[in-house]
Amino acid sequence: MSSPVASDPQASRPLFPVFADLHGRTVLVVGGGTVALRKATALREAGARVRVGAPALNAELAALAERGDIEHLPGEFAPHWLDDAWLAIAATDDDVVNRAVAEAGEARRLWVNVVDDAQASTVQIPARVDRGPLQVAISSGGAAPMLARHLRETLETQLDASLGELANLLGRERTRIRARFPQLGARRRFFDRLLRGKVPALLRKRQHLAAEREFAAQLHAEVPSSRGSVALVGAGPGDPGLLTLRALRVLNEADVILHDRLVSDEVMQLVRRDAQRIEVGKQAGNHHATQAQIHALMLDHAGAGKRVVRLKGGDPFVFGRGGEELEVLRDAGIDFEVVPGITAALACAAYAGVPLTHRDHAQSVRLVTAHCKDSDDTLDWQALAQERQTLAVYMGVAGLDRFSARLIEHGRAASTPFAIVENGSRANQRVIVGTLSDLAQRAREHDVQSPALLIVGEVAALADTLHWFGAPPLRGAPAIAAAA
Ligand code: SAH
Repeated sequence: MSSPVASDPQASRPLFPVFADLHGRTVLVVGGGTVALRKATALREAGARVRVGAPALNAELAALAERGDIEHLPGEFAPHWLDDAWLAIAATDDDVVNRAVAEAGEARRLWVNVVDDAQASTVQIPARVDRGPLQVAISSGGAAPMLARHLRETLETQLDASLGELANLLGRERTRIRARFPQLGARRRFFDRLLRGKVPALLRKRQHLAAEREFAAQLHAEVPSSRGSVALVGAGPGDPGLLTLRALRVLNEADVILHDRLVSDEVMQLVRRDAQRIEVGKQAGNHHATQAQIHALMLDHAGAGKRVVRLKGGDPFVFGRGGEELEVLRDAGIDFEVVPGITAALACAAYAGVPLTHRDHAQSVRLVTAHCKDSDDTLDWQALAQERQTLAVYMGVAGLDRFSARLIEHGRAASTPFAIVENGSRANQRVIVGTLSDLAQRAREHDVQSPALLIVGEVAALADTLHWFGAPPLRGAPAIAAAA
């Protein structure tokens, strides 16, 4: 999306989507050919009063004018054609005319679309998927109309025609739904039950009467008492494609999301829009205070009947303090579930092309954390330094000198390969490879930042040949440093 690479300024100009109510409002279409006809027809479907300006009209447009369905302004474009118009569409095959319409519109602060010319347009007409009152509009901001069209075709096949019926039904029943569930939370839960229930399926089968009956039954059914709950959910390493289906489902049903800073923006975009989001990212050195606050937030919101998602990077049970959080919930008698996530070790290894075990190199893998300053003294260095195993080290980027020195001291060869995976599975992933003897130096040279995972063991060398995601592994000093 926002790429640091400089690109066409027009393509990167963000657009604001709106759906305009043109009912009974005048819209000027300039042009008398098939494109103008298409625009005039779509505008008429939206209830607009269409005025078509052109020296001559094609047969269909002429027929519409004859019937009085459109008004025809003959001759060459003149700015007064825009009088009373709310919107103008320039649909001629003459650039000069199209630009004249755009300029005249600009002077009057009137929105003008020039067909197939994003540059000259102040408003763009999106590709659309229509399901009755339900409309999906797609725009690429003029950057890639073919892509927008492709997406439209995909959605056409995926969005069942009955969605329009469903939208109509909900529209008709809106007042009754509001009266039955005056409170937003209860209403939201009703919609969740409804949309996952039988009504959409009946409409898909075109059983309208049965759908209406089922709707009425659900509207008046006894409401299950809303007990709050907490789902402890693993968000994976960053790539939203690595979320589980269960995680996605739970994120879509949540009322409140308590998320770590490690959870990527891409994953957060999949969260139900109207859920309350609370970032509970922990500041270094302030773990305990914040952990207590997280516990309090979970208890408060679940206690108030909300469905809370506690969303954590990777897997909630791998260096995630998930156990502590569940103990608190259990003591408070709050329902909970755990949705596993892809932990950094598995994701980083996969996305760097490092098989964690390998018949020739490693028969076991250890997940280790070296996060806290004082905790490395409690690690079993003897065991960590053993041959034929892989270490996956979750840690801050500090302390690598000590880490490699300890391993070598306890017998691991200085020539043992390592791979550091920074921002694993994300667009900005970097992989840095080398051997234990130069671990800290390489990390410094490449200015490795958190989050980063360290993999130590013979398998790390395979990143050189098996990498497939993002840039190839880096070794040695980076180009800028070398040039300096
Ligand atoms: N529960 C998480 C780990 C939390 S500890 C999990 O299962 O992955 C935080 C550490 O995880 C970071 O310091 C880093 O070492 C590692 N980590 C998490 N996400 C990462 C990512 N996308 N790339 C590299 N390392 C990551």
